[in-house]
Amino acid sequence: MIISIDDTDSREGMCTTYLCALLMDELKEYGNIKGCPILIRLNPTIPYKTRGNASTAFEITTSEPVKVMEHVISRVNELAQLQSEMTNPGVVFISDEHSEKVKEQLGEFFLKAVREVLQIEDAKSLIATLGLHSKGWKNGRGLIGALAACGAMLNLGWDHTYEYLAYREKDAWGTKRQVDEDSVRKADIATYPNTWDTVDIANNAVVCIPHAGDPVLFGVRGNGIEPVTITSQMISSEPVERHAIYMTDQGTDLHLIPVERIADIKEMHSYSIEVTVSTCPETIRGGHTILSVRDDGGDEMDCAAYEPTKNFRELVRKFLPGDRMVFSGSVKNNTLNIEKLKIISLVQEHESVNPTCSECGKKMKSAGKGQGYRCKKCGTKADSAELVEIERGIPIGMYEVPPCARRHLAKPLARCQEKESKKDGKVFPSR
Ligand SMILES: [Zn+2]
Repeated sequence: MIISIDDTDSREGMCTTYLCALLMDELKEYGNIKGCPILIRLNPTIPYKTRGNASTAFEITTSEPVKVMEHVISRVNELAQLQSEMTNPGVVFISDEHSEKVKEQLGEFFLKAVREVLQIEDAKSLIATLGLHSKGWKNGRGLIGALAACGAMLNLGWDHTYEYLAYREKDAWGTKRQVDEDSVRKADIATYPNTWDTVDIANNAVVCIPHAGDPVLFGVRGNGIEPVTITSQMISSEPVERHAIYMTDQGTDLHLIPVERIADIKEMHSYSIEVTVSTCPETIRGGHTILSVRDDGGDEMDCAAYEPTKNFRELVRKFLPGDRMVFSGSVKNNTLNIEKLKIISLVQEHESVNPTCSECGKKMKSAGKGQGYRCKKCGTKADSAELVEIERGIPIGMYEVPPCARRHLAKPLARCQEKESKKDGKVFPSR
């Protein structure tokens, strides 16, 4: 049986992954947990999300499905942050007999939940059509994520990474997390680039430790169970109550839809599009850097490197009209929030300098307004200034926002180094 849970947390506490880890332990009484639980991130632009728009699922082999379902429902009832207005849990159960029949439709639902904007009604009507066991609390928004996680579990094969989540003892929830940051830095070095986003070296920040009142102590992301385990075990911290390793769509770019035309871009979706920069980047109040781009049909839109992307903005500020790029990111308020970019080509920029004397090789001086240039020593003359190419100082290649600004779903360039470097030029992972 597949069990999926979504939207049990609030800004103040709980975490759907913690509930999943807890239930996996408690349900051992009724059967065996099969394989790895999954942690699915959905469309990152959805405003209802509590913290990260994550949902979870795991599989259990059991001869007591009714008891299992009752246990899950009663624990969600007890532990979900139901008092929070934003928390609307959903749980979906898929029996073994059902799974083959619903696999394809739920697979499509999973991809839609990552890329599109679904309504609660979409989930409820699919649950009714397929005749699935489920329970929604309050408005039942969590049924969307729960159903999507079932679809992911039934259709393994999507690009995936892993996350090791360590949870705090209950007494510690809401207090400052005690983690030795030096040990985190050492642990990061030991396994990078097979793990990533543990620390942000450029911005001097440990990014694997959350700050809210939830049970997560830290999370280590990587490309396999082994590297995330090695790194996590190197971290010295307060006691860990339990941990779980999830297979996840984090770090896969699954949210990105490739498009060619700006006209095809919709609000609250995420895209990858090749464009030409059409205005010089401008940094507005708040430190956000904005520039306009044009597609091959001449349509224009704004792209932004917002303040939280920190040092990434320094790169974007060097762009000039005519530069050719592929920008990737989510679109909100008609603006694409750049999370990753690939430079295709840069325009050659020239500046005029005083001409060089052909006799002595020194720079000529102006001979007076409208008089051209002259070498004082040799008397050589030139009518006009010399145009020289300005070094742009940006190597062609792929760039990304730093770990402190990374979207859960965004594929880190640390994952792209081998495969992409041959066809796309150099890769510059932010670290
Ligand atoms: Zn000279």
